[in-house]
Amino acid sequence: MQTTLAGMAGVALTPMGLSSCITKKDEEKLTTTLNLSFQEGIPPGENLTEKLDFMESMGIVGFEPGGRGLAGRVNEIQEALKNRNIKVSAICAGFDGFILAEDPEVKATFDSTMRDIVAAAGELGSTGVIMVPAFNGQKPCLPHTQETRDYLCEQLHELGEYAVKCGTTVILEPLNRRECFYMRLVGDAAAIARDAQSEGVKCMGDFWHMQEEASDYGAFWSAGTKYLQHVHIASRGRRIMPGEDGDKDDYRDGFRALKQMGYDKFVSFECGTKGDRRETVTAAVNLLRAQWDEV
Ligand code: MG
Repeated sequence: MQTTLAGMAGVALTPMGLSSCITKKDEEKLTTTLNLSFQEGIPPGENLTEKLDFMESMGIVGFEPGGRGLAGRVNEIQEALKNRNIKVSAICAGFDGFILAEDPEVKATFDSTMRDIVAAAGELGSTGVIMVPAFNGQKPCLPHTQETRDYLCEQLHELGEYAVKCGTTVILEPLNRRECFYMRLVGDAAAIARDAQSEGVKCMGDFWHMQEEASDYGAFWSAGTKYLQHVHIASRGRRIMPGEDGDKDDYRDGFRALKQMGYDKFVSFECGTKGDRRETVTAAVNLLRAQWDEV
């Protein structure tokens, strides 16, 4: 009996026993699938059908169209996706005006054009419409004060509730200090989404802009599954195809967070390329899948 107890304690407490326990738990958490998506300009092809054929051959499961004119493209996109294993992921902006415009006419233009895109996004089953409240260069802009932040959250609340009715969301995209100094971290966008108090207001991370983050891993976790609704990806030096910037293109820290979170939305390509698209896109997809599998 004494020997048996000692033996049992040995099994439970030796490093080997502990590590096999952790490994088993991690394996259970880390089976999250990498759902890759392309913006429309990413795949080679003369038209949407050719582009989607290429995507399908690569096992790409998401398609991210631009928002401009989306209402007039709903049928075209629905037809093109019929009988394919590709869904609309997020919709990339495409509205006129901006939500923090000082000029009421510019704000009104934002409200109407954004709502048209949100409605179309809902019809397409999209995860949400990506937006930035104001780029640094957009003027005249409401002053960046506490009152403006409160106003932004109120306005986003209304927009988010509209998006919920349409069956979709609005997704805040943090950029970098040169483009949007007040919303440059995933955590910044997540906090605004939280304060908007609407299930229809979410945020995203873009590996390109996330060069300003102290940690990719921490950045995604700062939003968590409650707010993280989309991810953009590009190479980390020149914003071209992942892999074209060599060793810089390491996404494993962020991927580890996404896997642990059980992130079930899309990782979508938003980038150019310096090479032959057919080759660089294929290499990028292989690189991302390999890094995802590694973590
Ligand atoms: Mg982006």
